[in-house]
Amino acid sequence: ATPTAIMVGTGRGAANGILVKSAEALQTAHDVTTVVLDKTGTITKGEPRVTDVACVAGQDADGLLRLAASLELPSEHPLARAIVAEARRRGLETLPAEGFAQVAGRGVRARVDGRDCLGGNPTMLREAGVVLGEAQTLADTLAQDGKTPLCFAADGRLVGLIALADTLKPTSRAAIARLKAMGLDVVMLTGDNERTARAIGRQAGVDRVVAGVLPQDKEHEVRRLQEAGGTVAMVGDGVNDAPALVRADVGLAIGAGTDVAMESADIVLMRSDLGDVPAAIDLSRATICNIK
Ligand code: ADP
Ligand code: MG
Repeated sequence: ATPTAIMVGTGRGAANGILVKSAEALQTAHDVTTVVLDKTGTITKGEPRVTDVACVAGQDADGLLRLAASLELPSEHPLARAIVAEARRRGLETLPAEGFAQVAGRGVRARVDGRDCLGGNPTMLREAGVVLGEAQTLADTLAQDGKTPLCFAADGRLVGLIALADTLKPTSRAAIARLKAMGLDVVMLTGDNERTARAIGRQAGVDRVVAGVLPQDKEHEVRRLQEAGGTVAMVGDGVNDAPALVRADVGLAIGAGTDVAMESADIVLMRSDLGDVPAAIDLSRATICNIK
């Protein structure tokens, strides 16, 4: 493309909250064949809410929430923030905790009120040797509905399960339909579990779902798609997504997300609207075609 066409294209993008950082990004976006979308905060609002609290016999819901909130208090994760918010809403005080540690893509652990506690996805608890029993069936059912089930244990025994649900952004479904109509392969990439991810995928109209991806492995998934012959655009909002945004042929940060995501991206979508992804590719196609 001529410098003038690039300037015009870049200016048109900027007027619509699509900030293209380089001429190269605008050119490459034209050749994209595969669009990889992060789930949480990109397709969904990224504002999970507690929907279900289920305890094992002999425990009460408030006790479970108090334990969970005490454990999750130091965590920045949206699931953790939602649990703490629910405990506050119910007027529950947190218990003293120490030795807090996060396990990426899994959950958290700490000593709460003198007990060794952990909370996270069922996989994390199973790996730690906690017996889930019927809670596993309940977790599967909740996940089937698109909810994210988390389990909590104290001193190696299950206390209960808390499920959270996030909702699609209002324009996500239409944006994904538009990408497909443009002839692009759409893939959803998430650290969330397979069942939940598939349920959200169904709601959003994405049938290619890669779930259970640890934060450090998102980049690897993008590389795999490139090795399969795709020119890949990656869209994400989180710190977790930064290496994948860099790896992709075109990285798009959405919703003026985290600073790291914005720095790692080639294109920054200022609004939180997934519709700006097909718009950015259209912009690139228009810019490149005009000068040929
Ligand atoms: P993504 O942002 O792609 O959905 P993450 O890697 O942030 O994925 O999280 C993946 C999964 O790890 C979550 O769905 C959850 O099951 C678990 N997890 C991560 N952090 C926490 C936390 N602080 N508390 C409980 N579970 C967590
Ligand atoms: Mg995200």
